[in-house]
Amino acid sequence: MNGGDATEVFERVSHQTRVEILDALASAQRDAPMDPWLEYTELRERVGIRDNGNLNYHLDQLGDLILTGEAGYRLSRVGMGLIGTASSGVLDTDWTWGPVDAPGECRHCSGPLQLRYEDGVLWLTCGTDEHRTGLWVPPSLLEGHTEDELVERIAFLENRWGELTRRGICSECQGRVEGTLTRYEGEQYHYLGHCERCGSQHGLPVGLYLLGHPDVQRFSYEHGVDLRSTPFWTLDWCRLGTETAVSTDPLRIRVDVTHDGDTLSLTLDREGDVVATERS
Ligand SMILES: [Zn+2]
Ligand SMILES: [Zn+2]
Repeated sequence: MNGGDATEVFERVSHQTRVEILDALASAQRDAPMDPWLEYTELRERVGIRDNGNLNYHLDQLGDLILTGEAGYRLSRVGMGLIGTASSGVLDTDWTWGPVDAPGECRHCSGPLQLRYEDGVLWLTCGTDEHRTGLWVPPSLLEGHTEDELVERIAFLENRWGELTRRGICSECQGRVEGTLTRYEGEQYHYLGHCERCGSQHGLPVGLYLLGHPDVQRFSYEHGVDLRSTPFWTLDWCRLGTETAVSTDPLRIRVDVTHDGDTLSLTLDREGDVVATERS
């Protein structure tokens, strides 16, 4: 399989029988993770196929999504990745969840916030559609947790997006992200990155982009704040529009990270590299 060739994967799973085979192997994996192999006859029974030739044909078509051994068949690492994506619920756009109260306030109207999963997106919303922010969190993260746990888990995943983007890693496909600080609206700037591999656009407030920076993490930790699990939208300096354009040629953007009256100022160039830090 060529790296990044989605067509081939879609062809492999474009038949009901092949999906049923993968499903049977996935359920064997769940039931007995230490021994996930299914014998040929058992697999045939679970999928409900009588004709060996027919089953052999589909097993062949599944290619490297499955492994063949003396004990029978099991999912390969690639097959498990595919099943993992489907199991996370991201493909089910009918699924809804919430609303659940969220900390912080709307950056437009200061109204209270709620989380609601709808149309395949977790929305952080005050109730006004134009004010809502989409968070890239799969349904699998939302089930079976208390509200506090949930907010921490969502924050952890979202905040990691900033760190990954700053390191040039696409949060969707782990491909290379290239970008710059770009004018967003009026005099506001955000970091806008693009992944050539999957086509994802990564547009982040400059503060969120800096959230994983070691100086920012250390400064916050000294003030008793663990940034890894603090929702970025509750931090003033992670909001769009709180950055300062110090100069436009060359472009210099400053973010003031504040905790308890102490400030750590970081200045970035167009490429998003930190060129100066100052504590006051
Ligand atoms: Zn609002
Ligand atoms: Zn990507």
